Amino acid sequence: MTLGNLEGRHALVTGGGTGIGRAIAEGLRDAGAAVTVTGRRRDKLEEVAGCTPVVMDVASEESVVAGVAEARAAHGPVTICVANAGIAEGRSLRDTDAAFWRQVMAINLDGCFFTFRACIPDMLQAGWGRAIAISSIAGLKGLRGASAYTASKHGMIGLVRGLAADFVAKPLTINAICPGYVETAIVDQNLARIMERMGKTEAEALQVMQGANPHGRLIAPEEVASMALWLCSEGAASVHGQALQVSGGEF
Ligand code: NAP
Repeated sequence: MTLGNLEGRHALVTGGGTGIGRAIAEGLRDAGAAVTVTGRRRDKLEEVAGCTPVVMDVASEESVVAGVAEARAAHGPVTICVANAGIAEGRSLRDTDAAFWRQVMAINLDGCFFTFRACIPDMLQAGWGRAIAISSIAGLKGLRGASAYTASKHGMIGLVRGLAADFVAKPLTINAICPGYVETAIVDQNLARIMERMGKTEAEALQVMQGANPHGRLIAPEEVASMALWLCSEGAASVHGQALQVSGGEF
């Protein structure tokens, strides 16, 4: 059995210009799908060869509705939707003021909701679909020093489970992927914070990050993309409402 080819499918990947989203977009493109990548920085989106860039801010429903309409006009109904855009700053409770809380929720949780709300009707109409939320290991357990991020990522899994219940027995699946620490800009930002907060050198800070995954290394974005591609295969048609870990042995 192969993963199959995705010719004729239109995939939209939020935050598709960098990191995990970019690896997923490239994987879907290589599997034959027409791919729209969205984000706020057009230059990053334009770097992803063979994909259509659409500037869109996931924290604004208006922007998401307009962005998905632009994508639809270019490639037809969105039948694969990957809600990946997110921010991962960790702050203590004392430093988590209302504005920071709202910003994390607006991008990570509202953004996933707006994206799914704009794309799932296309899948119902097309009679086939795959909706995927990129949550985190922090969607399943508490991440120290990052309660707002943890809450937003738990919320994404709650949204996936609720929608999966609503759309059970429909011709689409809705799942979450929960990565551990993946080698992207988010990890680079964390490195800087660990060096500052814990007084570590860069090498020591890197060791802290690598040690946070049970298998002792950072995960490649392509490893997360593999899981997304598998979820898009016909063989995964009965996988629905799940939170699937790509975390190097966290359980
Ligand atoms: P990244 O390279 O920083 O990707 C984040 C992407 O989200 C960027 O392309 C960014 O593009 C986009 N984005 C942020 N705010 C946005 C907004 N308001 N509207 C539209 N797009 C927005 O980091 P990454 O690691 O690949 O993160 C991707 C996802 O994986 C995130 O949801 C993150 O929480 C999750 N994750 C990451 C890790 C990890 O260790 N790296 C682990 C678990 C889960 P613009 O700035 O151009 O908009």
